[in-house]
Amino acid sequence: MLLNTRTAVFGVAALASIALSMFLTQRIWRENGLRALEAINEQRVQLVANAVRSEISRQDHLPVVLSLDAEVRAVLAAPGDPVRRDRLNRKLQHVSREADTRALYVIGPDGVVVASDDWQLPDALVGRELSHRPYFTKAVEAGRASYLGVEPASNQVRYFLAEAVRDPSLLGVAVVRIEFDALEAAWQQAGERVLVTDQNGIVFLASDPEFKYRFLGAVREPADPAEETTQYPPAGAAPISFDVLERRGSGSAVRIRGAADRTSYLYQSMALPQYGWTIHRLTDLQAIDADQRDGAIIGGALSALFISLLLYLLQRHRAYADAREAGARLQRQVAERTRELQEANTTLQSEIDERRRTEERLRAAQNELVQAGKLAALGQMSAALAHEINQPLAAIRTFMASTKIFVQRGEMKQVSGNLDLIGGLADRMAKITAHLKMFARRSEPGRPEPVLVERAVEGALFLIESQTKNSGVRIEQELEPDLWVLGYAVQLEQVLLNLVQNALDAVEAVADPCIRIQTRSSGGRVAITVSDNGHGIPAEHIARIFDPFFTTKSVGKGLGLGLSITYGIVQDFGGQLSAVNRPEGGAALTIELPRHAGQAAFRKKVLHA
Ligand code: ADP
Repeated sequence: MLLNTRTAVFGVAALASIALSMFLTQRIWRENGLRALEAINEQRVQLVANAVRSEISRQDHLPVVLSLDAEVRAVLAAPGDPVRRDRLNRKLQHVSREADTRALYVIGPDGVVVASDDWQLPDALVGRELSHRPYFTKAVEAGRASYLGVEPASNQVRYFLAEAVRDPSLLGVAVVRIEFDALEAAWQQAGERVLVTDQNGIVFLASDPEFKYRFLGAVREPADPAEETTQYPPAGAAPISFDVLERRGSGSAVRIRGAADRTSYLYQSMALPQYGWTIHRLTDLQAIDADQRDGAIIGGALSALFISLLLYLLQRHRAYADAREAGARLQRQVAERTRELQEANTTLQSEIDERRRTEERLRAAQNELVQAGKLAALGQMSAALAHEINQPLAAIRTFMASTKIFVQRGEMKQVSGNLDLIGGLADRMAKITAHLKMFARRSEPGRPEPVLVERAVEGALFLIESQTKNSGVRIEQELEPDLWVLGYAVQLEQVLLNLVQNALDAVEAVADPCIRIQTRSSGGRVAITVSDNGHGIPAEHIARIFDPFFTTKSVGKGLGLGLSITYGIVQDFGGQLSAVNRPEGGAALTIELPRHAGQAAFRKKVLHA
């Protein structure tokens, strides 16, 4: 919404500035064009004025010269002399030709032309009666006259200059007739729009015939109709007046009122005070209008270009700001994310620490449990062990008694044999106690080491030997040689001891008790199975037998810890413990462990590590 408003405001401002610059440039273009045109036209008006002036001044002295001429005077004094008149006619013709005059003639005091430069032409002036002509009467009155009049034959304006010839009475009048036809033709040819008005504001010379003999309102108010001279033919058209569009220093921009076309002109005028005339010049402003249009287009285009540039820069600036903001946002997000990650990391670290502590506690608890298990196993074995130790002790005692007798008899050979037997029995007792000591020792978790499976089986069977022997159970072994696993020897012994112990318990009431220990390897794993032909595990118990304190045995016989400890140890070794009932009766418990390359490989590895 805000964006739309801003866009709209920008659009309006852009349009306004384009319009303003169009207006200003078209003004400037017009102004410059007009100034240049004015400067040129001022000179042109001057030129026109000079042309009119020189047309007159070239001839205006002729009547004066004639009035002083002795021949003229002589002819006027004696008009009847044909020879003199003829000579004067020729003289006038000659002068007229030399001075490039249209008409030069001398009138007698009665108004009849005495001599004329056109005496040879059929419609020559000689003999014509001109006494009523204004220039004649004025010259008679004032001695000199100038008169603008239209020659009826050509309907063209003529300018007459007349000078009275006196001696001292009036002898006649010398007249020169000036024509501006050539000037008008030249203006027309050059496409100039020039008007010349007389003292009454009537156009008597015009480049365009349609303006002729009309009153030009630009000069003065229309003359009183009574005052209107009869020197020109009736105009037949309304006075010319201008609609002033703009007033300027030396002229003004005007439009001709009532004209069919709407052309505007630069109007300039110049007075010729010595004749009472005014020169008017109109210059078509079409070129200026075109300039003005061009100016507007250029101004608009420049302003549009500038606005586009501004827009482009704004766009770039905005894109840059956006990119910077996005960068900053990204940085903030990264920082936030980093902080979150750090927090998560810290939390994770503390969780890891906690877990490690828990693990340590668990391991300690497990160790305690293992120890408890071992002690429980020892407790279970204690009766059998006592028997196992008592038997050799009793035997030793018997051997010692008989040895005494042999000593008294001096049968040293017998003595020596008895001592050997006693030594053997002592060795066996020492072996049992050493093994028990080792088994009972609290196992410190250290670096796991390769354990030879058959040796662990041997150790476990050794510990339980007295029990197996007593119970009359058949122990079958099917051991694959050179099977190694990574772990702790005592713990593996303990595991096997537990399994064999359970098997022993299971076959208690069986007629032909048999326990089978089998080890084999396949696919990098070692499987140790302890199976029996006992009562088996009831189906409802099989899922629970690894739970701590689960036991089906009577109080004092079972704690329900053996399998759970076994399970934990096997898992520590990276293995699995499973139990199944054999189809032929009895249970089979299998430990699966990753196979190890053996002691030699281990040493090598440790050395290299
Ligand atoms: P405990 O021997 O002290 O009862 P265990 O964890 O070693 O504790 O054994 C749990 C239970 O699993 C035993 O009470 C017994 O019911 C069952 N069990 C274990 N081994 C066998 C087996 N070989 N045959 C039949 N039942 C077994």
